[in-house]
Amino acid sequence: MAQDLVLKQRCELLRDLCASGSSETLEKVADVLLARGELSWEDYTNVKVQGRSLYTNARYLLDLVYSKGETACQVFVEGLRQIQTPEEPGPVTGKLLAQRPGLVAELQSCLDGALEALLESGCFSQEDCRDVRFHLNTPSQQARRLLDLVSSKGDSAANVVLGYIEQRQESGGNLTTETTKPEELLKYQKKLRSSISAQSSFMSTYGGTGHMSLDDIYTDGQLELAHDCKDHGDLDLEDIAGAAGTVNEDSDTVLVSGDAGSGKSTLLQRLHLLWARGAALRQFVLLFPFSCRKLNSELDQLSVQELLFGHCCWPDCERDEIFRFILDHPNLVAITFDGLDELKQSFSDERRLCSPTQPAPVHILLFNLLQGSLLKGVLKVVTSRPEAVGPMLRKHLRKELFLKGFSPEGIDRFINKQHRDSSVASKVLASIQANTALLGLCHSPVLCWIVSQCHKELLGCGDGTPQTITDVYLMILQHFLQHQSPPECPRRPSWLRDHLPGILHLGRLAFQGVESSCYIFASTDLETCCVTDQDIWAGFLTQTKDISSHRGLRYEFLHVTMQCFFAAIYVVLSDNAKRSTVAELFELKYADFSNTCFGLCLSADQQRDMTEAPHLQITATFVSGLLSQRHRHLWLHCTPTPLVERKAQQVVRCLHKGMQKHFKSIPKPLEGEKSSMHAMPGFVWLVKCIYEMRESEIAEEALSKLEVDHLKLTYCNIGPVECTALAFVLQHLRRPAGIQLDNNCMGDVGVEQLLPCLHICKSLYLRNNNITDEGIRKLIAKGIQCDNFQKIALFNNKLTDACTQYVCQLLKTKQNFLSLRLGNNYITSEGAIQLAKGLECNHSLKHLGLWGNKIGDSGAEAIAGALEGSKTLVWLSLVGNGVGSKGARALSKTLKTCPSLEQLWLTENCITKDGVESLVQALQHNKCVKSVWLKNNDLSPEEIEEMTQKESRLLF
Ligand code: ADP
Repeated sequence: MAQDLVLKQRCELLRDLCASGSSETLEKVADVLLARGELSWEDYTNVKVQGRSLYTNARYLLDLVYSKGETACQVFVEGLRQIQTPEEPGPVTGKLLAQRPGLVAELQSCLDGALEALLESGCFSQEDCRDVRFHLNTPSQQARRLLDLVSSKGDSAANVVLGYIEQRQESGGNLTTETTKPEELLKYQKKLRSSISAQSSFMSTYGGTGHMSLDDIYTDGQLELAHDCKDHGDLDLEDIAGAAGTVNEDSDTVLVSGDAGSGKSTLLQRLHLLWARGAALRQFVLLFPFSCRKLNSELDQLSVQELLFGHCCWPDCERDEIFRFILDHPNLVAITFDGLDELKQSFSDERRLCSPTQPAPVHILLFNLLQGSLLKGVLKVVTSRPEAVGPMLRKHLRKELFLKGFSPEGIDRFINKQHRDSSVASKVLASIQANTALLGLCHSPVLCWIVSQCHKELLGCGDGTPQTITDVYLMILQHFLQHQSPPECPRRPSWLRDHLPGILHLGRLAFQGVESSCYIFASTDLETCCVTDQDIWAGFLTQTKDISSHRGLRYEFLHVTMQCFFAAIYVVLSDNAKRSTVAELFELKYADFSNTCFGLCLSADQQRDMTEAPHLQITATFVSGLLSQRHRHLWLHCTPTPLVERKAQQVVRCLHKGMQKHFKSIPKPLEGEKSSMHAMPGFVWLVKCIYEMRESEIAEEALSKLEVDHLKLTYCNIGPVECTALAFVLQHLRRPAGIQLDNNCMGDVGVEQLLPCLHICKSLYLRNNNITDEGIRKLIAKGIQCDNFQKIALFNNKLTDACTQYVCQLLKTKQNFLSLRLGNNYITSEGAIQLAKGLECNHSLKHLGLWGNKIGDSGAEAIAGALEGSKTLVWLSLVGNGVGSKGARALSKTLKTCPSLEQLWLTENCITKDGVESLVQALQHNKCVKSVWLKNNDLSPEEIEEMTQKESRLLF
């Protein structure tokens, strides 16, 4: 009985289902079961849960089939057999199989045409077409389903599909899209393009200071795949819709995340403009841009159709046909949602909608679009600060891209675009480069824009250039306000007091907005907060560009961070603000749960908390800065000094308490083990607040109770700005510790910012951080002077042979240095020879890792020669370095003379039997080596067998 077999041969069946390592077999069997009615659609989707291991899915299927009884088991067993020994396909069906990947890609954009051809030829029934078009399938799944059905119908059906594709290719590839695009659609597309073009041609931040065209000012930011260690380099706008980095094929939502001010809205604006001109994302016939801050004010219930047409562009006629086109061709449509973190509601998938005509509150529509129950197959691009995206939404993401702001060259280009007068541009650049803290800040486009706007203040600045984010915003505050003052008295110390009423009006508006996630204000809101026309003219508020709005004038702050800054001023100045306002701002609930890794185990309520008011954190950072000793003079005569002092003490207490809370989360180390703290992003935020105050005693006090050996700050979105703050605080660590900063975006500027805390750093882990030789030069120049500094890991950066001269110096000078890991960089034999010179003179190194470079035989020979006689080296890795038998023979000599070596890693090289034999011989003289790893070298299975017999420490 088949049911019996499913039970008794479970292990074998499991192995068969998973043998290929891909879910192909499993999915095919599930297809058969679905087609034969043995699985419901729900069963079918449960079998293929993304993110669950293949084995778990396979076990689930076996349990399910067993529970469904004999017939299901029979279909399952037969189906599996058929898949394992497929019937000899006919010659044309075979072609279909051989070309399957290309066909899947091709068919996605012409599914309708192919189905029509199949229908006409009589090979497909309407039922087959419905099966293929099943609305929950993605376009690629639909294409696969079509091919499966065609294969099952034999050569004649296969002929029809191949003939259709061939004809389509001959006619230039756009047969379907071009021929089925109705006239009205083209008209609508034109209208949409011109409306988008009108909205996106100018930069909004320049509202108060003259319109600036996006073309003139747009500078590429650094766009990368989030959490991806592979070197894809910087991506461009087209990659947003491309395949790179896809983690979930079945989702259509792409997240572009980045800090406030990193340029997310500007990037979308650029994308919209290019699409409108037909210069980007040309595969999409329609594109609908949305701003979440604008969607907040939509109080009516809408259907998807009303949302798309009402908010973006209304078709002049044939509305239903155009909407039908969208439903029928989801792969030709894209929607963007800017600023998900500004939406009042946080993502939840509690209420599912399936019908595009069903009206619902806008946020429910949005959530259903993002998770794919509505307009499946339509590309959705959403931007947000990363902390505001909880795990519930993350599981619906196709991929995540991370926008990291400007590169150092980007800063250069941006400043040059801003100042046509090249002498001004070079003066501004020189003054930015002379102050590394400021240079760090300028990686953030919004700060770079401010600094560039305030070039006069910057260049003529008597009281030192800005060091903190608060300094930068104070500078622009002064800059804008002084535009209003007569030029003869530009630098009155009381500039803030002179403009106090207006600042307070804007502050109140900003604060109320931040509290209630409101970023667009109607005239009535302005009136409530007494904002006058003169306050508007100061330039911090700009009129909302909203062509489709009939709601009268509406305003927003130049940038959300500007709103947070005004909100912070309000918190500092106003005596109306509740006594508890400061404490509430720093409330730990906002700081605690913001790490997505930890967020996974939170309840839905907690997750909602976490994204409740994402801009409170930025406001709190400004409050810290504004209440620092350095800026106290500003508040004299603006508000009673005792009040300011009380608030400042409150901030210090909150920061201290927040830090303690993080430290309490450190698990007690087991006997003999090191204590380690994995910092959450909330920790980095606290550190940034402390830095804004720039008072060493506060930093010292905050760390006074921290006793850890290892501080882990991986994947914390740490760029140059955060590095400055970290160094400011961590230099007060009470004992040397390991600092792990892997997988952040520090770059060379970040490395330089970190130097002030290097003396307290035992080991520094900087894997995957975009560091170049220049960063290493600076790091080592300082590291050589730091006694405690003993280990460095630089895996997956941008290091070349040029860095090895510094490393060589480090090895020669520091005779207590223990571990050097340079894996996955660009070091060749030349660099290895340089390194060898350092190794010869070093008597302390225990670990040397060069995995994934290109040192080749001559590099290996140099390293091996330098290590001969080493009494300290325990671990050496030359994995994946193009090392052949020549290198292996040199390493054999090292083996004979290096009594301390325990592990030698030579996996993925091109060593032949000859080389391995010399290693075997050497091992006869060395009893300390525990293993020599040789997987994936040039040996036949028989040779591997023979060598393993000779020496069991060789591992293949
Ligand atoms: P975010 O949406 O991430 O908060 P924005 O796109 O609003 O950031 O950027 C803030 C400001 O920084 C913009 O108004 C603009 O002045 C400047 N900016 C951002 N990105 C760019 C860019 N790529 N080129 C030129 N300026 C930019």
